[in-house]
Amino acid sequence: MPPNRRLPCTVRPFHNETVESFIARLAAANHLRVDELRSYLGVRTLKTTPVTVLLEPLSAVSGYPASTLRLAMPEFITAKYTDEPGLTERPLTTRPQSLARPACRRCVRAAGITTSVECWVTHEHNVCLRHRLWIGTGCQNPQDQADLRRLPQVCLAQRHHRNLLARHGRRWIHGRFREAQAIYLKWYEQHEFASQREVVRRMIALASATRRPLAKDAVLPTIFHPEIVMLTGLLASDRWERRLFAGAGGLRLFIAEITRREVLAGYELQETDDPLYRWITDRIALHKFTRYYPRSFGALHPEETTRPTQNRPARDFRLIPLPSY
Ligand SMILES: [Zn+2]
Repeated sequence: MPPNRRLPCTVRPFHNETVESFIARLAAANHLRVDELRSYLGVRTLKTTPVTVLLEPLSAVSGYPASTLRLAMPEFITAKYTDEPGLTERPLTTRPQSLARPACRRCVRAAGITTSVECWVTHEHNVCLRHRLWIGTGCQNPQDQADLRRLPQVCLAQRHHRNLLARHGRRWIHGRFREAQAIYLKWYEQHEFASQREVVRRMIALASATRRPLAKDAVLPTIFHPEIVMLTGLLASDRWERRLFAGAGGLRLFIAEITRREVLAGYELQETDDPLYRWITDRIALHKFTRYYPRSFGALHPEETTRPTQNRPARDFRLIPLPSY
C-alpha cells in the first residue's frame, strides 16, 4: 500500500539530484534507515522495476507535488524528446555512459543542505565556475573537489568547453571529450613531457589552494583540462576531420595543429602504440562502416540529454564528414 501521510520532516530536492540521493537525505532527516523508508514507500523495487513507480509515494511522504519532483529529478523524465517546459536539455539517465557525481559542495551549502547530494551530470560539468571548484572526473565524494583559485586556465577551459558545445553541438562533442581525455592521459603515461616543471607547478597550485589531500584520480584530468578541451575541439571539428582524411599532407597538417593549438608542444605521431594513431584508424573504420549504413552514423553518436521534438539544430543531422575517400 502506498503511504498517504507525509513524514514529519522533509528535504528540498536539488536540481538534477538522483532519486537514491533524495531518498537517503529524506531518510536521514527523519532518523530512518534507507531500507525502512523504502518499505514505508510500499513499493517492491526489483531490478526491472521502473524508477517512476516511486514518484507518487515519494510525493506523498515528502509533501512536494509530483510535478515538482519530476522537474528536479531527471530519472522521472521518461521521454527522450519532449516539449514540456523545464524537461528539455536534461541529462538522460538510462544510457550506459550516464554520469552521477557529487554536486558542488559549496552550491549544496548555499541551498541550505548540510549533507552531500549526488546529481546526474552531463560530460561538461567539470568545473563550478561560481565557486571555482573541480567537480568533474575523479570526484567520488564532495571532499575530492579541488580548489581552482590558483589555476585560472582551468576555469577558462570550462568556458571554452561550453563554447565548443554551442559551436559543434553536444551530440558531437561529448564522445570526443572522453576520447581526448583518454588520449591525453595516455600520452602523459607514455612520454616524459618536455615541460615537467609546468606539470609540477600546476600540481603545487592545486594542492596549495585546496589545503587537503587531493583525490588521486582527479589530479591529472584537472591540471590537463585546458589541453584536453583544446584537443576535443580539434577532434570534434568536421572541417579538420575532412582535411585529415583528404590526403595531400592532411595528416601532417593535423599533427602540426596539435602543436599550434598548444595541446602538446613538438608532438610527432608515432605509429606504434600511439593513442591518436589508434583514434584515427578507428575513425576510418567507422566511416567505412557508415558509408554503407549512413543512418548508423547518427545511432553511433547518441544523445546525452533530452531534446525538443521540433526545431532541433540543423547540425544534429550532420552526415558522414567523408562522402568518399
Ligand atoms: Zn558551486
